[in-house]
Amino acid sequence: MTKTFASRADLSPKRATFTRLSEHAWAYTAEGDPNSGVVIAENAALVVDTTATPAMARQLISQIRRVTDRPIKYVVLSHYHAVRVLGASAFFSEGAQEIIASRGTRELIAERGGQDMQSEIERFPRLFDAVETVPGLTWPTLVFERDLTLYLGDLEVQIKHVGMGHTKGDTIVWLPQERVLFSGDLVEFGAAAYTGDAQLAHWPGTLEVLRRLSPEKLVPGRGPALLSNAEANRAIDYTKSFVETLLSSARESIAAGHDLRQAFAHARSRMDPLFGDVFIYEHCLPFDVSRAFDEASGISHPRIWTAERDREMWQALQD
Ligand SMILES: [Zn+2]
Repeated sequence: MTKTFASRADLSPKRATFTRLSEHAWAYTAEGDPNSGVVIAENAALVVDTTATPAMARQLISQIRRVTDRPIKYVVLSHYHAVRVLGASAFFSEGAQEIIASRGTRELIAERGGQDMQSEIERFPRLFDAVETVPGLTWPTLVFERDLTLYLGDLEVQIKHVGMGHTKGDTIVWLPQERVLFSGDLVEFGAAAYTGDAQLAHWPGTLEVLRRLSPEKLVPGRGPALLSNAEANRAIDYTKSFVETLLSSARESIAAGHDLRQAFAHARSRMDPLFGDVFIYEHCLPFDVSRAFDEASGISHPRIWTAERDREMWQALQD
């Protein structure tokens, strides 16, 4: 009998919380489900990650509308994953003028956005409430190479690709005056890091760039907002440990001549004691080990996940 993805049994909805972090920054966090960030300035608002569907985005918009009626002019995509980007169309009726993404994110949407959408929806249906409201892929309208700075009135908003990690296109939003960082999935806290499309060897160095920003507030991709520099560093350390343990276990497996199943068992022996209890660990681990095994084998550009590859991999590891 085929075992289904761990996440298909995860049906209990999470409660979203909208929290003010500073004069202009807000966190929309959801008990380990994907977070969004919001910046509200004197003439416009900006949202970082759009939720998974337009119907879900309406819930975020209703929270924003409780505190401001300013147009939500800018939508920033932290990376290309469906669960972050497919709600974007809901912001057009709220004043959205630009959907901003890095060059790497644009390339990944063009290369694999369609397969990623199908795969993510089948893996984790609860995260795609009212999926029928998704009109199709989300295409950026404004693409930057390394840095883009917006001035919303007096507020400086830096949109940056500081390095690869969770994907090759990872983008952060940084408010230097308020020391608030929206990291996307480069940083997680209390949840597993999904690394199925990652650049694992680059990720720790990218995290050190984030640490050097010295954020006082950090909204991770998943988990609660971190409310001090010490807490932000704790989340950075946690993510770094997750990524480094995963990649080193895959390298050990390659050196030992393991196949993927053996590599999975070896990864469990290293990862379970440290991370076995965190949110979505069981969901992520097979995808994470598959990518780490590939990267340790010399495959630098992650292979595309299709719904079929998802099922084949899951069966190979669980049966
Ligand atoms: Zn992601």
